[in-house]
This record gives sequence, C-alpha cells and structure tokens, in this order.
Amino acid sequence: MDSELKQLEAQPQQMWDYFSLDSKYSELGFSTRAIHCGNEPDGKFGGVSPAIDLSTTYAQPYPGQPMCFDYARCGNPTRLALERNLASLENAKYAFALNSGMSACVTIMQLLTQGEHVLCIDDVYGGTQRYLRKILTEKQGIELSMIDFGNLDDVRAAIKPNTRIVWAETPTNPTLKICDIAAVAEICKEKGVMFVVDNTFMSPYLQVFYLKHQYQKQNPLNLGATIVVHSITKYIGGHSDVVMGCICLNDKELYDKLFFSMKSIGSGASPFDCYLALRGSKTLAIRMERAMQNAQQIAEYLESHEKVEKVIYPGLQSHPQYELTKRQSRGPGAMISFYIKGDIKTAERFLRAVKIFTLAESLGGVESLIENPALMTHFSVPPEQRKILGIDDNFIRISTGIEDLKDLKDDIKQALEKA
Ligand SMILES: *Cc1c(COP(=O)(O)O)cnc(C)c1O
Repeated sequence: MDSELKQLEAQPQQMWDYFSLDSKYSELGFSTRAIHCGNEPDGKFGGVSPAIDLSTTYAQPYPGQPMCFDYARCGNPTRLALERNLASLENAKYAFALNSGMSACVTIMQLLTQGEHVLCIDDVYGGTQRYLRKILTEKQGIELSMIDFGNLDDVRAAIKPNTRIVWAETPTNPTLKICDIAAVAEICKEKGVMFVVDNTFMSPYLQVFYLKHQYQKQNPLNLGATIVVHSITKYIGGHSDVVMGCICLNDKELYDKLFFSMKSIGSGASPFDCYLALRGSKTLAIRMERAMQNAQQIAEYLESHEKVEKVIYPGLQSHPQYELTKRQSRGPGAMISFYIKGDIKTAERFLRAVKIFTLAESLGGVESLIENPALMTHFSVPPEQRKILGIDDNFIRISTGIEDLKDLKDDIKQALEKA
C-alpha cells in the first residue's frame, strides 16, 4: 500500500496540472479531440472507455497532503476526464463540469458582491432569467439590466461603473438573435468587465470559425470572451438523458475563484453524469452536422409553406444576421422558430398533430422536439416582456434531431394540414 501511494505521489499534484498536459491535442481536429482527450486508456488495465470512479474520498499519503483529489465534491477522476475533454473542445485552458447548466450560471454569479451590476442580453434562457430576476436581483441585492445586444452603442452605454458581468447567449432563445461575440468582447475589454457567453445553442462544434488560409480556431474565448458556459443537457450530452453544465475559461486566477465557488456551494457534477457526457461528446460533430442539415431543409420548407407566417433560422437569407452567422460560426445550428398563421388554437392543433416530433421542452437531443414557448419554456417570462421579444401565442420552436429528413418533413406537412 505504502509503495503504491508513493508511486502516485510522483504524479501531478493538482487537478489543473492535468489540463496543461493536454496541449498535445491542440493541433488536432474537433472529433479527434472529442474522442481522445480525457478518454485515454486507463493506466492500470487499459480500459478504452473511462471508468466511473465513485469514491467519495481519497487516501492521502501524508495528513493534509492529498495526491490530487481529497473529497469528491471538490473533484474526482471521471469529472476531471470530462473537464479536460470540454476544455479541449472550447479551446480553453480549464473547464468545470457542473451539475446543471443553471449551476454553471449560479457558480459564476457567486463572484458578485451586493451592489454590483449584471448586464444581460434581453432574450436569455428562461431559467437564467428567472434566477437573475427572482433571486439575484430581488433577494441578493445585485442590479440587473436586460437589453438587446444588436446595437453595440447600446451595449457600451449600458455598462456602468459597478458592472462586473456581461452575459450573452447566441443565438438567443427562442427568437434566435445573433450576438457579435468579437465586438461585444472588445467593449467588455475596454470597460474591464467579464464577458460570459452561453454557448449552448451552437455547441462547441459550431461556434467556431477557421481563418481561411491557416489552421486557427476562433472559439468565443479566442474572440475575447472571458468565460464560455454550456448546458451539457442539450447538444453535448445529446441524448436527453443527463442534466449537466460546464464552464470553460483561460484565466488561472479566475479558475481558482470559480473552484472556490464550486466546492463551497457544491455545484460539481456527479461521476455517472460525467461518464454520460463524455460519451455524448464523442459524437457531437456528426450529430450537429446531421441535425443542421435537417434544420436547413425544414426551415426552407416552412418558409415556403402558405400556413406559415414567418420563419426565423440563421441559415436563411431572410435572417437579419445571416452574414454575421457565417462569419462567426461553422454553421447556423439546428434550432428553428416560426410563427404559424392563426392563433393559439391553430398552434395547439398543429402541436397535437405532430407524430414524430415530440411535444416537449429542451433541445439538442437526437430526437426532434417541438414546443410553444409562450405556454412552455418561456411561461415564466413576464407577458409584457414576451410581447416585446415577439414570443406570441402562435410562435413555435423546433429542435431538429437526427432522424431521417423525409419523415420529419412529412410529419410537419401533415400536421400543418390539420392545423
Ligand atoms: C437549458 C439551458 C440552460 C440551463 O441548463 P440546465 O442544464 O437545464 O440547467 C442554460 N442556457 C441555455 C441556453 C439553455 O438552453
């Protein structure tokens, strides 16, 4: 026992040391990184897929000098494997795997002190909005402004002396507005505030572009964001069977502060969940490609249909930020929103008539989902705010999955006929 512990002592001492070893992956393509980083055959028996390490505590060679992990709330080997994988996908130095996407948000907001200010994009995820409005603002003395990030002068003007965090999502949910990440990052840098990008809707695979003649990845962090967060529950997990979130970043000082938040509030992810997320991440690129092909075809079909009033999809030329999407992303994603001609009754008839699309909240899984934001995901957004954002009763949101295109199209066709 003693000699085994001695041997382990020779390994890197701190969790973050492991991240620095991963620079060897940095020149490899997305799927190669997704499949190999964090998934190395284990040292003892060569297991090709990572073990689920369930230990809650780890033996220490000397009192108070753990080897790498001490208590599993703070970190464990399966979580570290996933964190290395996620960091690699976001071109980040460090990552945290948290027990939900909301946990990622809350862990970051622990950095704030009473009286500080958060500037958030107006059309933000319903859960984020609820937390910001009902807890952070009403109970914890944080100031909040929510504005459209479409006009950069408005963003600059809304940053106050007490602003600490600017929070964006792109595309936004559910109206799919695109935020110019590089431009907002520049403003944040100039003003000395943190810029957080919730990258859930695009996934690490799509929110990146490659400069034409050189192999240079431009993820949000490369474009100047301080932190990228994901709800892993969506595309990274990809199979609608795990709730998880993550934080990716480059700054070691900030990593230490967030590590302190994470271990203090207990927001770290469980080993079982980390295993599932690692498994999902391996196929992220091919799932995204397929879902996006389906989305493009369905969006075009909807746009041509007489029973549809308007389609919002960043891959359609009718989208006001079609060019920006092309400049900043590898593709327009797999989320579509549209207004059906008619009222809430028409929308309800349509939603009841779909057979392959599942009427459900959430997104990013292999199965196609469909929903009515006004009654479902965005019900907690105040009605007057919904009106401003355009989340009307006849507004419908689709997350295209990876089923066969023909079946999805036929399904929409017959449901529109019944509407
Ligand atoms: C789902 C979602 C979240 C919250 O993630 P959970 O894993 O459900 O806690 C945050 N942001 C966006 C954009 C989401 O879609």
